[in-house]
Amino acid sequence: MIDRRGALKTLAALGAASATAGCAVGGGTRSAASELMPGTARRVVIAGGGWGGITAARYLRRLAPDLEVVVLERNPVFFSCPMSNKWLVDVIETNFLMHDQLRPAARAGYRFVNTEITAIDRERKRVHVTGGYVRYDWLVLSPGIRHAYDAWFGNDVAAANYTRTNFPSAYIPNAEHLALKQKIQNFKGGDLVMTLPPPPHRCPPSPYERACLIAWHMKKHRIPGRIVILDPKDGIRPIGGGFKRAFEELYKDQITYVPNAKVSEVDPFNRKIRTSAGEFRFADAILMAPHQAGELCWDAGLVKKNADGKPVNGWSDVDEFLLHARDDRSVFVIGDAVGPVSPLFGHYPKAGHVANWHGRMVANYIAAFSKGREPEPMLPDNLCYMLVNGDPREAIMVDFKYKFTQDLIEQTQVDVNERSTKLFAEDIDWATRTYRDIFGT
Ligand SMILES: Cc1cc2nc3c(=O)[nH]c(=O)nc-3n(C[C@H](O)[C@H](O)[C@H](O)COP(=O)(O)OP(=O)(O)OC[C@H]3O[C@@H](n4cnc5c(N)ncnc54)[C@H](O)[C@@H]3O)c2cc1C
Repeated sequence: MIDRRGALKTLAALGAASATAGCAVGGGTRSAASELMPGTARRVVIAGGGWGGITAARYLRRLAPDLEVVVLERNPVFFSCPMSNKWLVDVIETNFLMHDQLRPAARAGYRFVNTEITAIDRERKRVHVTGGYVRYDWLVLSPGIRHAYDAWFGNDVAAANYTRTNFPSAYIPNAEHLALKQKIQNFKGGDLVMTLPPPPHRCPPSPYERACLIAWHMKKHRIPGRIVILDPKDGIRPIGGGFKRAFEELYKDQITYVPNAKVSEVDPFNRKIRTSAGEFRFADAILMAPHQAGELCWDAGLVKKNADGKPVNGWSDVDEFLLHARDDRSVFVIGDAVGPVSPLFGHYPKAGHVANWHGRMVANYIAAFSKGREPEPMLPDNLCYMLVNGDPREAIMVDFKYKFTQDLIEQTQVDVNERSTKLFAEDIDWATRTYRDIFGT
């Protein structure tokens, strides 16, 4: 693991670079340049080396050692969104979130390439990156999410950029996390407004956890402010009971929860938001625009559109069991970018735990295909711990299970609303075990 100060410096430097380079993707820059890494071995290219992508790479090397595995990732260092709310208020150290990418790759035998992916050419089975293209036999897309600022600002790029820079949501690793941490540390008081995206969005309970922890920080440091949560839903979900009790019992003076607050207009320059629950002015804000599948899925033509060319739901349309593109069994999507998988509940929770499972599932599927076999569909599970109190450290949790029912995937959900220090200990244990599974350490 890299040391804490070095890691932060890398992170800060990265922020600017990745933010600018990221603009190229949607445009689909297909360089005429030459093939990078030429060779004849059958190859799996993994686009995005986050929770899903790195898991897939490691399991593929284990399950199909004759395949070459290449991970393409814009960030040289792994920064974990899970546990990052705790890091924002100094409950967790930076070293716990950040992981070296090169040593795990060398150990497992996959290639980690630090580069920006600029386009996907499914016809010619090529992934374009800065300076050339990489050929693939199978492609796994695990690019996470994008912020759909256009839902608020249309084509007004200045408003979107101003919002991203001044009121970052910190839902994509990693520069925004640094900006938000500094914002929290420098916050002097007043209303800190937090908009929640409409569902489905990345890690559904995590905005409420973030509110609790910022409220705890305000209370501890006697900052005369409050967090105003603008939720488009009619109530807190999941673990609604546990969060509601934390809001009422621990943060009565620090948190104001507003349900049914669908955003209709955002004026970041004048710090005003209009919603279906009224208009709000703010001293500072964490503005979360709607989430959609990461840019690469759009570029690869995997987001379903209707007859007018408008996106149906903004997520990747894949086979619900094997996670491959409906018209292309050589291309898979995993993690948060996946669209609905069941008419019974819609989307899998957009969680690192699920992305980790997807990585394992898709490694099994590609290994089977590479040996000429039809894979057996697998199902994930999901559990998510949320810290609601910083002192003592008490968490609540939600547990999801899946099974097949008459050719459909069925979900059961259990909320554990009683906060306890035991659940926080389980959370640390979960993260430690899962990082170990992803990186093989
Ligand atoms: C505050 C917060 C708390 C959370 N807490 C939890 C939790 O407690 N438990 C849990 O299970 N989940 C949690 N999550 C959710 C979890 O972070 C995501 O579900 C998980 O990261 C999804 O994995 P992924 O592989 O789909 O995307 P990511 O992990 O985001 O990986 C996508 C990768 O693709 C790369 N990429 C994208 N485009 C390009 C490009 N053009 N070129 C090169 N690289 C590219 C990105 O840099 C990134 O590394 C939390 C999320 C947040 C924001």
